[in-house]
Amino acid sequence: MNFIPLSQPDITQVEIDAVVDTLRSGRLSIGPRQSRFEELVAERVGLRHAVAVSSGTAGLHLVLLALGIGPGDEVITTPFSFIASANCILMVGAKPVFVDIDPRSLNMDPLLVEAAITPRTKAILGVEVFGNPTHMDRLAQIAGSHEIPLIEDSCEGLGGKHKGRAIGAFGRAGVFGFYPNKQITTGEGGMIVTNDDKLASLCRSYRNQGRSDAIAQGQTASSSAQDNRAGSWLAHERLGYNYRLSEINCALGIAQMERLDEMLAARRRVAGEYMRRLMGMGDLILPNIESNDDASWFVFVPRLCDLYGLVERDRIINGLRRHEIGAANYFPCIHLQPFYRERFGYGPGMFPIAESISHRTIALPFFNRMDVNQVELVALTLKVMLDREKLLKP
Ligand SMILES: *Cc1c(COP(=O)(O)O)cnc(C)c1O
Repeated sequence: MNFIPLSQPDITQVEIDAVVDTLRSGRLSIGPRQSRFEELVAERVGLRHAVAVSSGTAGLHLVLLALGIGPGDEVITTPFSFIASANCILMVGAKPVFVDIDPRSLNMDPLLVEAAITPRTKAILGVEVFGNPTHMDRLAQIAGSHEIPLIEDSCEGLGGKHKGRAIGAFGRAGVFGFYPNKQITTGEGGMIVTNDDKLASLCRSYRNQGRSDAIAQGQTASSSAQDNRAGSWLAHERLGYNYRLSEINCALGIAQMERLDEMLAARRRVAGEYMRRLMGMGDLILPNIESNDDASWFVFVPRLCDLYGLVERDRIINGLRRHEIGAANYFPCIHLQPFYRERFGYGPGMFPIAESISHRTIALPFFNRMDVNQVELVALTLKVMLDREKLLKP
């Protein structure tokens, strides 16, 4: 039997040729492919700037730095996300303030966000969890009315829209991630998008060892004076990082961006096939997309209804894996990760909705080229596992 993976990148001959061409070109970093990749993403989101970086996490880190967020500041975010969306707040020395989620969209509850704002709140960091953009407009509105920036961790939502507006375009800045399980991949990589000229310029400097933006954009070591006069390659204006994305990665990114619509359509199709087959299972709650939203399907994550808990869920995930089906518990709550508990004294019961839901989610295999037979097999196997849980119930 063939293992059905949880996710799988969609790499064609086009991507392979693009990478080989780059290797032959002799230009492996800071070149035309970076600019082109940035242009394509900026265009897609409808913003002026895109800054390619080495990962989504690096992008989030730079946005917080460039906004001047640091020790003593609070940033409101969700406990139900990939850990990077809270870690980036710790990276700049600020404090993540978690609020509970709305059980329909799995995104932060806007009313709780509003209630959590204090004079120390310096930003709201919103996440389109699993590619679902619900409430992003409300978060932008709340941030605006308190004169603080909304940062969009849009790492799970490339290509989606909320009420007609692109995911990534709601905040002062948005960040995409290109790890191999995302909608498009560059192997590793990320992209900051923004309409803020100064923020973009700062991010470009931070990603390139604190060199001035002018040099970061155009020149390299071989094309500028080897000294530390302002504006030269060896002049570093601030503490920076090496968060650059190589030309090889960017070549992949260009090829993937050119196939984005085709890939999003394939993902929508797979999600539809799952929905049709799982709809009838009473003990399962399916992903909920609002009618005026155009979700970008990142993963497919139904959950058990609240008659079940962690023990049953984990048994089902293990059962699926025994049947050669990839499955995962997206996401364990961030506030319950060991170092968050230790550092901030978080414990179970503090964000009951996020906790209860995170005990019941089952991420199923989901990738562009998944065929209907594979979907059928996963759905049937899941049904067998659920029926067995029902028999075990008192
Ligand atoms: C993937 C992802 C990131 C970024 O991940 P990297 O591996 O650093 O590219 C950040 N936030 C969320 C919510 C993600 O899903």
